[in-house]
Amino acid sequence: MTTQLPSLCELTRDELALWCQNHGEQPYRADQIRKWLFGKRVNDFNAMTDISAGLRQQLAHEFVIFSSEIATHQKSSDGTEKLLLRLRDGETTECVLMREDDRRTICISTQVGCGMGCVFCASGLLGLSRNLTTGEIVEEILRLDRLLPPLERITNVVVMGMGEPLANLPHLLKALATLDEKGGLGMSPRRITISTVGLPEKIRELSQVGKPYNLAISLHAPNDTLRSELVPVNRNIGIDAILAAADDFFQETGRRVTYEYVVLAERNDSAEQARELAQLLRGRNAHVNLIPMNSVSELPYHDPAAERLRTFVEILESSGVTTTVRKRKGADIDAACGQLRLRAASANVEPITTVSASSQNPA
Ligand code: SAH
Repeated sequence: MTTQLPSLCELTRDELALWCQNHGEQPYRADQIRKWLFGKRVNDFNAMTDISAGLRQQLAHEFVIFSSEIATHQKSSDGTEKLLLRLRDGETTECVLMREDDRRTICISTQVGCGMGCVFCASGLLGLSRNLTTGEIVEEILRLDRLLPPLERITNVVVMGMGEPLANLPHLLKALATLDEKGGLGMSPRRITISTVGLPEKIRELSQVGKPYNLAISLHAPNDTLRSELVPVNRNIGIDAILAAADDFFQETGRRVTYEYVVLAERNDSAEQARELAQLLRGRNAHVNLIPMNSVSELPYHDPAAERLRTFVEILESSGVTTTVRKRKGADIDAACGQLRLRAASANVEPITTVSASSQNPA
């Protein structure tokens, strides 16, 4: 039953070095193996040619390289690509590659579904199934990396796919560590952003890990009454506790915190709400990222009128709060995370082959 073997992607560099030692090999072999897996993008132990045939055989006897398979692969006309990965237990996860100038940014998921229940989000509609394992998160990254041509590399990672990253922090941190460890993708934590609904204790935990990850907090409302409607878990947390944790994060790491704000037409996009938000963030080392609602057919929320969005930005900026509006990517392939999985679930489709929406779109 080779399919039940663990994935090599589950192992950190130290764990693989230990495995090598336990098999009578020098620990540095782990770096050689990881160089093939991460740097040279091979999908077969036999291609690891500077490793002895015996060791390759031993690896193949105990591991598979990937435990997931690509269920669907979509390409957008703007160069965005999205993968739906089928996991061993039949669950699915999704991840996205975005291209912009020299940047190759990937967006990864940390859970199957989500338990936070934000009312405008597709991922929460089916609830939480389970956490992704370390290896499953690494597989998302490596599968996306393998979509790039030989000389291109992932430049940025945003942990903004399905799920609440801070609710699966141990697996996420282990997966991200493999990126900057020797033999990994050579990625600096400074180019990795973790987005959270705002779990104060976990934000403090993240500030203690000693790596300069960027933190993005999904605020979405300038007061607790509205936030608790849009982000139900807020009832037990509250904006004050989140801002206090974010301030501590900044104190500890020196990293400026980003506040995400999904802009929902006529719900949280008024001038009054912009002033309230400015009041809340003024004087903090904060940056606001406005995300116009990405429509989900199952949900009754829409993106704001251009004029209201412009006014919203002006009010924030004139109060000294730096603000950007996120560009939409991959709209024609349901690239807002959770949408592809949702569609697959509602249509009860069993996509087993690579489907590309690219025939009309040169990527
Ligand atoms: N659970 C984490 C990360 C996943 S969602 C979090 O809450 O931050 C990543 C971002 O996408 C969040 O800011 C989330 O609120 C936003 N988002 C979710 N659904 C969206 C939609 N339909 N349109 C625009 N942004 C959305």
